[in-house]
Amino acid sequence: MSGRNFFGMNVSRRRFLATAGVLAAGAAGVTSAVHARKPFLINPCRDPALDALMDSPWLAKVWQGLDPAQVWDCHVHLAGIGDSSNGLMVGPRLQSLWHPVLYAQRLFYMNGGCVSTEPGTVDENYVRRLAVLAKNMQPGFKMMLFAFDWYHDDKGQATPGMSTFYVPDDYARRMAAAHPDVFEWVASIHPYRADAVDRLEAAAAQGARAVKWLPAAQNIDPSSRHCDAFFAAMARLRLPLISHCGAEKAAQSASMEYFGNPLKLRRALEAGVRVVVAHCATVGDDEDLDQHGGKRTSFELFTRLMETPEWQGRLFGDISAIVLRNRKPEVIRALLERDDWHERLLNGSDYPLPGILPLVSPGALASSGLLPPEAVADLETLREHNPLYFDLALKRALNWKGKTFPAKVFATRAFFENR
Ligand SMILES: [Zn+2]
Repeated sequence: MSGRNFFGMNVSRRRFLATAGVLAAGAAGVTSAVHARKPFLINPCRDPALDALMDSPWLAKVWQGLDPAQVWDCHVHLAGIGDSSNGLMVGPRLQSLWHPVLYAQRLFYMNGGCVSTEPGTVDENYVRRLAVLAKNMQPGFKMMLFAFDWYHDDKGQATPGMSTFYVPDDYARRMAAAHPDVFEWVASIHPYRADAVDRLEAAAAQGARAVKWLPAAQNIDPSSRHCDAFFAAMARLRLPLISHCGAEKAAQSASMEYFGNPLKLRRALEAGVRVVVAHCATVGDDEDLDQHGGKRTSFELFTRLMETPEWQGRLFGDISAIVLRNRKPEVIRALLERDDWHERLLNGSDYPLPGILPLVSPGALASSGLLPPEAVADLETLREHNPLYFDLALKRALNWKGKTFPAKVFATRAFFENR
């Protein structure tokens, strides 16, 4: 079968599934046979209403001790294929079949977001679906939508050909304005651009709740003096920085991957910026810059920063994506066990990733002793209806020897609102 599929492109279904299979087996480390009963690769994107699960104890547990109005999902990607007039663009590497892994990632990304087949409506449908999912949580719950700035060269020139994707600040801002009951927005501003501080001030005035960077994909060295003016403005405006640390598949080169080293964020911390390390740096290795070389896990370096007394109250971590299959159970256990850190952890979903079936395995988490086995079936059903709800229910159910994430990890609103 060939023709337009839900990705809005001419790709044979067989070829997509073949590529998808390679991605799932390679990137997600899937070795078992296709699950007998549950969909395995492709999210069936069922109705977000949860009637079938109304009696589930795991669903009841989600809001226990939690005021939905305080729950802001602090890590949500705006995605699409650029088929609206909103300025959103997908970089050449994600569009090309010559880069099958990135290409398949993009296809999965769209399926994770349950985007329809109709060309010309993909961007719009992505946001519409997201709003519907959020409205099917509890009233008051909100998501923070990420913009994504261009790759810029060392001189601060935007370089679309090197960019993985581009989501303008203005698009994120307008989507939040269109659905103020469920969305907030987060700006993305490259610190090397000549107008970086002006843009930051404009974003703050227009209600941005934070700034998001993916240093390894955007060519940002957070330890560069070229960031100083930007950090000073961030500290003055009291806007937090959410920065990706650890391994990054979208990185263009090994030298750029190095920009995700948690230790490079000291410059921002010293400037007085509140820094949120995305995913608590739970995947990858980085050079130990304090020991003149030698590799450590990125999480060990994050731990070193968290244990530095000066950064108490300034350094934070988001727990988005920590449940992905490429994370080791030890890091999830550590995050549950370190109750002295819980004050500094913020929940985010990394949507649409929780909707991409091969990426998160409730069964594997149960086998590692991190999830009650009785919860697995309900969570898998929940994911087919509402991946946002799934992510929250899963994190609420995580348990290691009686240690769980307390309600305050999910009540993130005050952190972003109190500037
Ligand atoms: Zn993310």
